[in-house]
Amino acid sequence: MKKFILAAVVLLSMLLLAACGGEKASESGAEKGDDDKLQVIASFTILKDMVEQIGGDHVDVHNLVPTGTDPHEYEPLPEDIKNATDADLLLYNGMNLEGGEDGWFFKMIDAVGQDESNVFAASEGVEPMYIGGGEHDKEQNPHDFIDPDNGIKMAENVRDALIAVDPDREDVYQKQGDDYIDRLQKIEQDYGEKLGDIPAEDRILVTSERAYQYLADHYNMKEGFVYEIDTEENGTPEQIKDLVSFIEKNDPPALFVESNVDERPMETVSDESGAPIYDKPIYSDEIGEQGEEVDTYVKYLNYNLDILHDGLSR
Ligand SMILES: [Zn+2]
Repeated sequence: MKKFILAAVVLLSMLLLAACGGEKASESGAEKGDDDKLQVIASFTILKDMVEQIGGDHVDVHNLVPTGTDPHEYEPLPEDIKNATDADLLLYNGMNLEGGEDGWFFKMIDAVGQDESNVFAASEGVEPMYIGGGEHDKEQNPHDFIDPDNGIKMAENVRDALIAVDPDREDVYQKQGDDYIDRLQKIEQDYGEKLGDIPAEDRILVTSERAYQYLADHYNMKEGFVYEIDTEENGTPEQIKDLVSFIEKNDPPALFVESNVDERPMETVSDESGAPIYDKPIYSDEIGEQGEEVDTYVKYLNYNLDILHDGLSR
């Protein structure tokens, strides 16, 4: 009940803000004519980077979920609402990353009255995998972008979305998109080679959340995790016990902790199993802030590959 009231309050304040933003919309419309940049909304940091790589100087991107924040549950800020109201293009991952059709992203789209033809799912066409574990059997795993193969599909979708809303610059987006996709394809090859280099019995990927399902499936890695998804209870005695027995059975060379989660459950697992935690975080739902070591999706993919290769090579 409390949750419902809270949701209603949030929705109401969104509507009010959207209404107030009405006058400003025409103002910024005029501004847009001056510098001629496409105003884009991206739901999270990886997508923001992709749009900037492909759109280059022609896009002005406002990101919603910041680094260090859970994208599965997010409450848009007044600034987000204003930008979403005025945007020419709105991109989200899809596959439940933003909470699905009843999640925060679509509540915001409805509240600001955006035209649905400006809204695109970056993961359109990616074959979904399901989180499983009984409770989440019918829930799509949203972390498709951890596997570079899906990143390529997303980049194609971002390129095509830019062309759809801004056809005058088709040639530019096509060229910049294709160059970017070439880079991702090269990285995908590296994944195949480097992960293939690890002996099959050591290809065991233990993380906090079951976020690495697509990657593990693609490269024949066995998955261990504390909990299935960030939004549930994390690190219960039962979850710890299950993972410790998985580790005793499979003997992974190292355990990994994501950059945006509480490391304590994995520390308990490490203490109880004796398996070491790799000394650098692995990335899942986000890239770092600008200027940090992992501040682009290309760096994110390369970084994750390096630490996986290093951590799992004995
Ligand atoms: Zn996640």
